[in-house]
Amino acid sequence: ILETRALNKRFGGLHVTNNVDFALEEGEVHCLIGPNGAGKSTLFRLILGEHAPSSGAILFGGEDITHLKSFQRIHRGMSVKFQVPGIFKALSVRQNLEIAMQRHYEAASLGEEIEKLLAFLNLSADGGRLAGNLSHGQKQWLEIGMAISLKPRLLLLDEPTAGMSPEETHATGEMIKRLNAEGMTVLAVEHDMAFVRQVAHKVTVLHLGRVFAQGTIDDIVADEQVAAIYLGKTTAH
Ligand code: ATP
Ligand code: MG
Repeated sequence: ILETRALNKRFGGLHVTNNVDFALEEGEVHCLIGPNGAGKSTLFRLILGEHAPSSGAILFGGEDITHLKSFQRIHRGMSVKFQVPGIFKALSVRQNLEIAMQRHYEAASLGEEIEKLLAFLNLSADGGRLAGNLSHGQKQWLEIGMAISLKPRLLLLDEPTAGMSPEETHATGEMIKRLNAEGMTVLAVEHDMAFVRQVAHKVTVLHLGRVFAQGTIDDIVADEQVAAIYLGKTTAH
């Protein structure tokens, strides 16, 4: 469903993604891991069209989308939850979802769609609360809700479980598995290995802007070179 070909992004002299060839199969949950600064978020921004690549190509559903604008990619079925929160704290949970969904649903069915989504997000009892008053984990769920509200073909999640308790992390994994069972393809940047094990069919390790390793979670945790890049990071600090 998604393919990058020799994708490069440089910021001045910094080579942040370096000839990245990456393929995501339709119907899979794929986790992207790698040390801080590996280029994971940058790769997301390239895929979504928020950065233009320095060179290389991106294909989505077989179509070359390298020069399409972000909104055109969203129109073709991409959606993203970024690392930085994007909810309206002074509005209620329900109003946040309304903003994301109102232009895409008939007024008659909008309310029902919102209630269905709230139930899916474990937020049915919190629809009337101000988004700013939710717990940290609930805010992340609301963001996931906004990202899935238009039923995208491809969902990109940048650290969906950051700061969550193990219970919240597990519940998030179950949400992702349900979305995947309904046909959504998911690419998630994730640091929590229990979560990766729970959801991922496949794992890609990014290091210094390059695809460093790829395989199942078992392949990756058994890979001594992958372990070494994380150790390298801790000794460098
Ligand atoms: P983390 O795990 O900390 O979120 P990451 O893998 O998402 O890290 P990126 O945010 O993609 O890493 O950043 C990769 C490198 O690119 C870093 O060295 C960062 O400082 C640099 N970088 C990212 N965005 C820009 C920018 N707009 N201008 C200049 N440098 C940037
Ligand atoms: Mg990042």
